[in-house]
Amino acid sequence: MLEHSDVVLMEKLVSLCKRRGFVFQSSEIYGGIGNTYDYGPLGVELLRRIKDFWWARMVTTRDDIVGLDSAIIQNPKVWETSGHVAGFTDPMVDCKKCKARFRADKLSDARCPERPSKRPGECGGELTEPRAFNLMFKTTVGAVESTGSVVYLRPETAQGIFLNFLNVLTSSRLKPPFGIAQIGKSFRNEITPGNFVFRTREFEQMEMEFFVPPAQNDQWFAYWRKERFQWYLDLGLDPNKLRLRDHDQTELAHYSTGTTDIEYLYPFGWGELEGVACRTDFDLKRHSAASGTELVYFEPETKERYTPYVIEPAAGVNRIAMTMLLDAYFEEQVDGETRVSLRLHPALAPITVGVFPLVKKEGMPEKAREIESELRRGNMSTFYDEKAAIGRRYRRQDEVGTPYCVTVDGETVKNDVVTVRHRDSMLQDKVPVRELRGFLAQNMANWKR
Ligand code: ATP
Repeated sequence: MLEHSDVVLMEKLVSLCKRRGFVFQSSEIYGGIGNTYDYGPLGVELLRRIKDFWWARMVTTRDDIVGLDSAIIQNPKVWETSGHVAGFTDPMVDCKKCKARFRADKLSDARCPERPSKRPGECGGELTEPRAFNLMFKTTVGAVESTGSVVYLRPETAQGIFLNFLNVLTSSRLKPPFGIAQIGKSFRNEITPGNFVFRTREFEQMEMEFFVPPAQNDQWFAYWRKERFQWYLDLGLDPNKLRLRDHDQTELAHYSTGTTDIEYLYPFGWGELEGVACRTDFDLKRHSAASGTELVYFEPETKERYTPYVIEPAAGVNRIAMTMLLDAYFEEQVDGETRVSLRLHPALAPITVGVFPLVKKEGMPEKAREIESELRRGNMSTFYDEKAAIGRRYRRQDEVGTPYCVTVDGETVKNDVVTVRHRDSMLQDKVPVRELRGFLAQNMANWKR
């Protein structure tokens, strides 16, 4: 059973996300559509920073991984070959009373829509036997709707990487071990209880396929398990709420020699943030056989021709964003009021600096605008605010996770010194304007959870 405080935390977060422009219900003015959300001005910044943080770690700072952006709609044979047409299914049960549909393997996480305090089946409704339900969205291409024109929206970005294995190999002159990384939208016709953006029908994935000589499989699997776990620590998530969980034999895909999930302790229990999977040579071999194009690597020195093994770290951007917001949500009593702050990693917060003139006169707004544009030129995202008392302005920024607020007062106009107020400690520093950018950058680099 969910603790009351956990339900309340989720409710508070959903409300904050809407109120402050992180996440909105999609098509809300038409009554919405289940499991579908839109990201507002602050949400989109958070998603972008997560993707940049991943890309920097996985691609930009490495010489053995390159990027790719493959199509969402691919030749339907791709999904027949990959096994998704036949096997990408969840076992589903229907409630005969309220007609709601649930994942048979996740009943313990689900709630009866009519009696949310009960789980499916505990509400007096009888459940059907589990039935396979294909998760891929179908659509048609071309002017004529016929079975020949049926295509699928990709349910994962990984297959686009396998299809381009040879293209990348020959155009980039890399050799195993090397990786191809991709960020993009995936689509799954999920039928599950909400949990906000944890599981949606349309979501963004960050996937990387790392191609290795088969003999190096175990060593690279160990490397990527560790490296990906560290990435979540570096995001600033609570280490006590993170764990690695190895799949047991019953859970493992038939072709996989090992899979580990990186999990987070959500208010509704442990849930997957990312899967790190050994996919062996399964995908390359299947596509080679089905397409007639040999997806292999030829090593000129040893004259050896082989199909590389693949290690795949696969993460979801939206799920990470929700996790970061939950993890960062913090309430405390200050001066008889509840102060809400999001203690996000400063480099990932949607707004880096709030800039406030203390009052709307005496040259302070002009000076503040000047400082704001200087910070923007230095690639820092800012928010200028001159409305309400300074304390209220601080609180509004705390609530969206802005790590620094810069206040321009009489001393700034006279001596070019501003006050920098810190979100987490609420402490204030006096900083000369000419040192401000460096001061903030250094503070960001030194931030600890
Ligand atoms: P789950 O068991 O939660 O359905 P999965 O094992 O099917 O996830 P993968 O196919 O390994 O997930 O996808 C990699 C990552 O993509 C997941 O760890 C998750 O972060 C994200 N993801 C998968 N499905 C969804 C979804 N429906 N909504 C949001 N994110 C998703």
